[in-house]
Amino acid sequence: MKVLVINSGSSSIKYQLLEMDTEKVLAKGLVERIGIEGSRIIHRKNEEKYVIEKVIKNHEEGLKEVLDLLTSEDYKVISSLKEIDAVGHRVVHGGERFSSSVIIDKESLDAIEMMSFLAPLHNPANVMGIKAAMDLLPNVPQVGVFDTSFHQTMPNTSFLYAIPYEYYEKYKIRRYGFHGTSHKYVSRRAAEILGKDIKTLKIITSHIGNGASIAAVKNGQSFDTSMGFTPLEGLVMGTRSGDIDPAIVSFLAQEEGLTAKEVIGILNNKSGVYGITKGFSSDMRDIEDKALEGDKVCRLALDIYEYRIAKYIGAYAAAMNGVDVIVFTAGVGENSPVTREEICEKYLTYLGVKIDKEKNNFKGLERVISTPDSKVTVLVVPTNEELMIARETKELVSTKN
Ligand code: ADP
Repeated sequence: MKVLVINSGSSSIKYQLLEMDTEKVLAKGLVERIGIEGSRIIHRKNEEKYVIEKVIKNHEEGLKEVLDLLTSEDYKVISSLKEIDAVGHRVVHGGERFSSSVIIDKESLDAIEMMSFLAPLHNPANVMGIKAAMDLLPNVPQVGVFDTSFHQTMPNTSFLYAIPYEYYEKYKIRRYGFHGTSHKYVSRRAAEILGKDIKTLKIITSHIGNGASIAAVKNGQSFDTSMGFTPLEGLVMGTRSGDIDPAIVSFLAQEEGLTAKEVIGILNNKSGVYGITKGFSSDMRDIEDKALEGDKVCRLALDIYEYRIAKYIGAYAAAMNGVDVIVFTAGVGENSPVTREEICEKYLTYLGVKIDKEKNNFKGLERVISTPDSKVTVLVVPTNEELMIARETKELVSTKN
């Protein structure tokens, strides 16, 4: 079975075509600057990379180009579009309606569109990608895989905010959590690597990239997570503040003559390590390099970043009444031995965490980095959201047939 995975953003489409018998990626790429000057496709097949510059006005045109590429003389990986058995779409917000992936029909597409009030930047773009794929591949099943659905197992003690209950009833204000596909993939993979049944484990998954979130995964299910009603809550991120006192919003609005929406814009786009370093960088590589050279501001930003991660790990160890496994993933988690080591050595020894510094000194591989006598097993597991989406798509389509 061949599955095409699509992740559409407001001006981009990321795609991967996978052969599911072997889970091999046949081709992948990115259509970027859709509807903007300079649109282009970066297409990869095996180790080769092709850049094709072309005017692409909308998502339908972008996807048409991708399908042409997959079957064209020069770049082809399949001889006909008939070889695509299913399309799996990443959808950011599934609200309370979608606690698992679905085969998309008219009704579920309408529901995804309605969920745009909860994710105005993301769901409309996801819908554009789905509609384009439905038009261009009308007889191929389309599956929606939601960033939020893994977290729908959270108990109400984790997902309810202590605000008047009517706001939950009226507006569905609650913790949803994001990066669910990643937390699900790495927690399952960690159990597999350790040869243990995930139903017996208490796992804390730390997805730390540009956006960052932590999840408490108890017996294979999400029990709590740091992102909330929106992806702004929780950890310190590249440009996002994570947790702050909500009273700061009205204080800043008043003092700076801003609207609440503008203040939230600052918390999303001008805060995090970017804000702490007075706009030096939102990229953790830059921050880490400077911090290690002795720059005090970058050192402070890295310290605050790591401290918040450690606080959440401590909180989730308490929430689950224990922790067996800690997983690091995403850009920083996979590639920064320094951040992993500092979090574990400065803050987690009370849990019995012991890191093997030599084993920890690598990038981008699956590996256990704790010592054999560590009370908690610590691993790095590179995330693979596309593979998880493709697997869920295959499973749904196969059970339907
Ligand atoms: P997202 O998908 O949220 O955009 P990624 O998971 O790709 O983000 O992570 C990007 C982040 O990972 C950037 O801040 C980048 O600097 C950081 N990163 C990548 N490699 C390293 C490294 N070797 N050391 C520290 N940080 C790194």
